[in-house]
Amino acid sequence: MKDKEHIEAVGDHHFSANIKTPLRADAFEKSDDEKIENIQHHFKMIMQEMGLDVTDDSLSGTPYRFAKMYIKELFYGLNPANKPKLSTFDNTYGYKKMLVEQHINIDSSCEHHFLPIVGHAHIGYIPTKKVIGLSKINRLVDYYAHRPQVQERLAVQILNDLQDVLETKDVIIIINAKHLCVSSRGIKDQNSYTTTLEYGGCFSKRATRNEFLNIVGEQKL
Ligand SMILES: [Zn+2]
Repeated sequence: MKDKEHIEAVGDHHFSANIKTPLRADAFEKSDDEKIENIQHHFKMIMQEMGLDVTDDSLSGTPYRFAKMYIKELFYGLNPANKPKLSTFDNTYGYKKMLVEQHINIDSSCEHHFLPIVGHAHIGYIPTKKVIGLSKINRLVDYYAHRPQVQERLAVQILNDLQDVLETKDVIIIINAKHLCVSSRGIKDQNSYTTTLEYGGCFSKRATRNEFLNIVGEQKL
């Protein structure tokens, strides 16, 4: 085990070395029901270790609720089987200007503390051959948000998938989010939030990037 100081430092700096979510090779060999049963057992142990009486009427259902919430709700996006189908359409209209989907809800969790990351994303792209149904963008964001995350990685994962299905590098994403591990523990800063920006293709040009940032009303870069 790494020494405790190092573990604390990594968590508070939110370092991440990997674009892919680090998953075990056997991550999806067990069924969701098996996982829920096991997590229920382990979380009950944690509660007991904390001195809670898990036979109390109010607490006895908590291990099950917790386990189900982890597998089916908060972290459903770990499992590729739950990934939304990103159907695209031919750009028959020939729209070649910027298309922006704004204020997409971000409801995620930090992988260093398992505490909420809440905020919003704005995503823009310039279609070439393909366009995508707008709600699909929201669904993709929701999917990647619902796994233990690092904000930078969340942005890159969404960007990469959109670039793939849209068959263009001309995609940009900005995420503004509040990390509860910063506001509710550690430094306990209630007001700060984190902005991450990822883009490719023509958004590397400052003018195009600023056009997007003007639309979404964020500070120019
Ligand atoms: Zn954290």
